[in-house]
Amino acid sequence: MIVLRRYMNNNLRNFNYLIGCEESRQAIAVDPLGADEMLALAEEQGYEIKLILNTHEHHDHIDGNPRVQEVTGADIWAHKNAAERIPNVARGLVAGDVVELGTIRLTVLYTPGHTMAHLCLLSEDGGPDGQPVLFSGDTLFNACAGNCRNGGDPDTLYDTFVSQFQPLPDDTLMHPGHDYMKNNLSFALTREPGNDMIQYWLDQVSAFDADEMPVMTLGQERTYNPFLRLHQPLIRERLKDAFPALGDGDRDVFKALRTLRDQW
Ligand SMILES: [Zn+2]
Repeated sequence: MIVLRRYMNNNLRNFNYLIGCEESRQAIAVDPLGADEMLALAEEQGYEIKLILNTHEHHDHIDGNPRVQEVTGADIWAHKNAAERIPNVARGLVAGDVVELGTIRLTVLYTPGHTMAHLCLLSEDGGPDGQPVLFSGDTLFNACAGNCRNGGDPDTLYDTFVSQFQPLPDDTLMHPGHDYMKNNLSFALTREPGNDMIQYWLDQVSAFDADEMPVMTLGQERTYNPFLRLHQPLIRERLKDAFPALGDGDRDVFKALRTLRDQW
């Protein structure tokens, strides 16, 4: 399995992905907003797009579907809760479904919170060194969690983080739906100013263009992403400035962080 990523040069900073099987030369297009870019990429790299997978129903993830489908004839699959909202969905996926194409095997994780129809895709061993690979859409970003402002719910997003992401191993490679890393790290630094890893990665990525952003592991995310560091005393202490009555539960901390990120 090979992952080809393209940055869409738009104000929403989308990442589009082709997941290719190097043996059959077949590929899955994940959220192909830039239809022509992804079609050209497939052709240039010698892949035939056989399937379109959407992580959720937002327009910046599905608007390229018709063009890719018109050219390739590929089916569109998405979570069953999105089937009514995404035109031409041929299969409504649920948690535990396995998407197979050539040697590619992706397990569907149901990950509501950003929207209630959001799925993530997990390959158990598709990384270059056999490590797991997660396509996290707009649920888990580098250094942040997705917002809940367009059909989502922060309580549900918290439950998704605990039930779906917490169990994943540190070496899991993560492919989010957007490049927000610099901005998110800047926010993270306001929450945890003494964290050297935040400053380190901020320095690293400051020099990079969006299409050069590193692919991070979940283990690395756990060193700087405040939404994966709910137990850090400094994060909790500083949240009390904005939320004096903040409870001790992880859920309260997660939701307070999400509220501050919305206002930031
Ligand atoms: Zn979205």
